[in-house]
Order: sequence, then C-alpha cells, then structure tokens
Amino acid sequence: MDERIEQACRDAGRRRDEITLVAVTKVFPAAVIVEAYEAGLRDFGENYVQEFEGKQAEVRGLEGARFHLIGHLQSNKSRRAAELFDVIQTVDTLKLARRLNETGLRLEVMLEVKLSEEESKHGAEPEAVAELADAVRAQPNLTLAGLMTMPPWYDDPERTRPYFRRLREIAERVTRPGEPMALSMGMSHDFEAAIQEGATHIRVGTALFGKRKKA
Ligand SMILES: *Cc1c(COP(=O)(O)O)cnc(C)c1O
Repeated sequence: MDERIEQACRDAGRRRDEITLVAVTKVFPAAVIVEAYEAGLRDFGENYVQEFEGKQAEVRGLEGARFHLIGHLQSNKSRRAAELFDVIQTVDTLKLARRLNETGLRLEVMLEVKLSEEESKHGAEPEAVAELADAVRAQPNLTLAGLMTMPPWYDDPERTRPYFRRLREIAERVTRPGEPMALSMGMSHDFEAAIQEGATHIRVGTALFGKRKKA
C-alpha cells in the first residue's frame, strides 16, 4: 500500500506527507483497527454510527488515532456521532451542521458534495456548497476542514477522474484565501487518479484489508 501511494505521489509530483491515508474499517471487527494502528496507521474511516459504537471501547485508548465518519449521517444521530468521531466527512445540510454544533463538542467537518446523478448518493448539490461552507464557518464548535465526494462506481479510474477534478474546482471556488481545504476523494481502485487531481485524504478499505463480506 505504501509503495502504491508513494508511486502515485511521484507520478503526480506531490509529497507523500500531503496525503492522509484513511483506512476504511467498516464491516471489520475492532481488532482490525488495533492491528492497523500497530502497523502505523492513524486515521480510520467508518460508515455507520451504530457499528462504530460497538467497536469504540476497544479502540478508544489508541493514542493519536483519529476516527472519521464517512457514511451518511442522519441528524437525529448527530450527538452520538459527535461523541464518537473526530471528523465528520459527510455534512451535507445546514440542519445537520447546526445539530452537530449544538452538541457543544468541537469537531472537524467536511462537506459531502453530490456530483453523481444517482438517487442513492447523498451530499450537497455543487451550487449549495458555498452557502453551506459559510454556514459551517459560522458555527463556533465546527471547523470547516474540507470537501468530500463519492463518485459513481466505475472499474476504470479514468471515468471517476472527472469527478475528482470537479471537486477540486468547487474547492477552489469556495475556499477563502489562506484557508486550508482538504479533498477527501479516491478509494482502493482509483486513488492514484485522485492524488493526481489533488486529493489530500484517500479512503481505502479493500486494498488494505481485503474484500468485505456483504453486510
Ligand atoms: C467503503 C468506502 C470506501 C472504501 O472503499 P474501498 O473500495 O474498499 O477502498 C471509501 N469511501 C466510502 C465512503 C466508503 O463507503
């Protein structure tokens, strides 16, 4: 995995330390997180609040580990999510941002942007991102950390590349001067293209841990 990321960085003319590998551990037991931590990983992505709730006792003591929620969050679960996660990557409505802020817990958030036409995909419409970004900046407990997207699934990374490029263009449009803006995009099969298009966070499950059993 490290070799693949390093090669992608060399090809893209970027430094390895610009990229955070978020290890996606959904479906796998807490022991897999602990093992990955011992192997040096520090950022972990989980899709479901409830699933991670069941693992948290075993991973809570991992010093310096950061847990990212990368699955859709319903606003009625925002308190639990704020207690469990360090970063919520899937904020897509003003209501959810407000709910998270109201928990009083400090959180980093990314805005999930919907770039695909698929009904099942969540995320804010591209036209709504600027306003949502401003709304998050106005919440005292939230730090706007970046944008995230989940393109439609294609085997061929050249077909997801245009989505990565669009997310970067949206970030360029909504970022204020000097404001850091992460780009969470790219998964096991297409993170090289994402790194070339400016990803700062790649979310990788299968390439690290093998195929998941269907939930
Ligand atoms: C499962 C998942 C990933 C990881 O996908 P892999 O193909 O296993 O690398 C990344 N992002 C999100 C939002 C996911 O749900």
